[in-house]
Amino acid sequence: MHSIPSQGNDMTNMIKATAALGVMLMSLNVNASECELTITANDAMQFDKKSLSVPATCKEVTLNLHHSGSLPKSAMGHNWVLSTADNVQAIANDGMTAGVDNSYIKAGDERVLAHTDVIGGGGSTSITFNIEGLDSKAAYRFFCSFPGHWAIMQGSFVIEA
Ligand code: ZN
Repeated sequence: MHSIPSQGNDMTNMIKATAALGVMLMSLNVNASECELTITANDAMQFDKKSLSVPATCKEVTLNLHHSGSLPKSAMGHNWVLSTADNVQAIANDGMTAGVDNSYIKAGDERVLAHTDVIGGGGSTSITFNIEGLDSKAAYRFFCSFPGHWAIMQGSFVIEA
């Protein structure tokens, strides 16, 4: 007889605790989400976004890259590279011979502001980088440095002042 209301209280407390946890997780997401970006690449040599932007108030930005295709990284590998707009072509040209193990980035290339590893179909990777030194008035672009991809696979990266 007494166990039933007791169970009811336990259930009520559990629901309250779950709801409180949900609110906590939601508020964490709101704070983190504006500094976290996600982009998907595919077997058709395309990114699903032409531009990405983050508020200048982000100290660090996390970029998640997904490859929704099925081709191996030797054939249709993708990475995500960030630089100023005027350096895109030179970085890609110099990275062409660097090989997949070096993410098609020339060793020590200081023009590269951030980059992920190269991934193949079904893969995911992410990188967290600091944007405090970046200028909201400058023109930045992201691109894939896999040989031959940069001309199509690129977009603007905007720091919103
Ligand atoms: Zn690519």
